[in-house]
Amino acid sequence: MKTGPLWIEQYPRPAGLPTSPLPDAVDVAVVGGGYTGLSAARVLARAGATVAVLERETIGWGASSRNGGMATTGLKAAAQQVYQRYGPELGRVFWELSLDAIDLIGQIVAEEGLECDFVRRGHVALAYKPGHFAAMKEKVAWFKEKLNHTFHLVGPQELAQEIGSAVFYGGLIDEYSGGLHPARYVFGLAEAAARHGARLVEGAGVTSMTREARGFRLQTEKGALHAREVLVATNGYTDGLSPQIQRGIFPAGSYIIATAPLPPHLQRQLSPKGRMFYDSKWFLNYFRLTPDGRMLFGGRNNLSTGLDLQESARRLRAHMVRVFPQLRDVPITHSWSGQLGLTFDLMPHIGRVNDDPMSGVHYAMGYCGHGVSIATYTGTEAGLLLCGQKRDSPFLQIPHPRKFYYWGRPWFLPFAALYYRFRDWASS
Ligand SMILES: Cc1cc2nc3c(=O)[nH]c(=O)nc-3n(C[C@H](O)[C@H](O)[C@H](O)COP(=O)(O)OP(=O)(O)OC[C@H]3O[C@@H](n4cnc5c(N)ncnc54)[C@H](O)[C@@H]3O)c2cc1C
Repeated sequence: MKTGPLWIEQYPRPAGLPTSPLPDAVDVAVVGGGYTGLSAARVLARAGATVAVLERETIGWGASSRNGGMATTGLKAAAQQVYQRYGPELGRVFWELSLDAIDLIGQIVAEEGLECDFVRRGHVALAYKPGHFAAMKEKVAWFKEKLNHTFHLVGPQELAQEIGSAVFYGGLIDEYSGGLHPARYVFGLAEAAARHGARLVEGAGVTSMTREARGFRLQTEKGALHAREVLVATNGYTDGLSPQIQRGIFPAGSYIIATAPLPPHLQRQLSPKGRMFYDSKWFLNYFRLTPDGRMLFGGRNNLSTGLDLQESARRLRAHMVRVFPQLRDVPITHSWSGQLGLTFDLMPHIGRVNDDPMSGVHYAMGYCGHGVSIATYTGTEAGLLLCGQKRDSPFLQIPHPRKFYYWGRPWFLPFAALYYRFRDWASS
């Protein structure tokens, strides 16, 4: 078994990726070279701004080449909660934005001619307990009434048409969702941003930022750079560059295994319609067939970022075989992990620092494991806001919570993990 992302092995960073040396000065410096930073750079460069994407490692190194590739509707915060918390108008806006985010991937793929296996075959949320299926029935009615969105409810009997597993109590299908090949997508975005004029600078970790009369001076591992505006797009890898940004996001580990390619008849048996799947636990498992017909199976283990990849493979395999006993003898070929960026309100945020030495720096992050489409969307939105092509955004209308007990070390995660594991166990 290899301990690295399958995606990168299948589609390594293109040798001809047009990277640049560090420029002296730009209109906008984007810190972080994943979906968020590259989406922002693409629209900024297209609008005529000079842009540098500063990436500590190599372009796409973070979660953007390690994820499950599932572009599913909604945000991590449940639509009902969002509706209740911010009111019906914003509640609707945030839901619709999650649909627009998937359409946006399709639009970028078409406009830029990206080949990233983007297909929209829908997703199925799977009821892990009988009570979860009852809650799904209520959800269907609520979505129809409040958001005019249609889910298809499938009972345990019809579920066989969707998945070759007998462990679930029903499911909720959303035809709007899709899937893609994460590495092909992130490198395609990078090439598109560079084609529009963005400079991609690798090995350029930003180590400090200081305010200047007309913008910021960024010290990087490759030298210094002056920028009129800065967008921090570091999500689950956010460090202490700006204390205010760091206090609004904390990292959690997500882990994935992939099997050897499955024979076509087994692929059809496990996933007849090629949907994206996730179950209804708080500590959910997410899974899908890859474009080359393997089972990819992911989960969060205990939220920690440092779990040994052999151990995580052992645990994920046990879950996978419980769902799909047919895979008992199929070898696991890859095990890998990456870092999610969690927020206290489970919402993504676009914001501007206002109360520390980095005052004026912008950021976009906080997808809570739901960033394939949403990071594309917020990155694009942040870019459009920065170049003045957009004046307002729903993200500017919601507060970004910080907690007095969090200053950059998420000591509370093991306790949160215990609490949510208990809730999964206790729910009926
Ligand atoms: C295992 C896993 C599975 C997932 N599955 C899914 C899924 O199926 N569907 C879904 O919607 N979402 C999924 N996600 C979440 C999704 O991958 C992320 O939300 C998304 O990739 C975030 O993109 P980003 O550009 O904001 O951050 P990233 O892609 O993480 O990029 C941040 C970059 O910032 C760089 N950086 C950090 N600090 C600095 C610095 N000081 N200077 C310069 N560079 C810096 C890092 O090196 C990194 O490359 C998953 C995540 C993981 C880890």
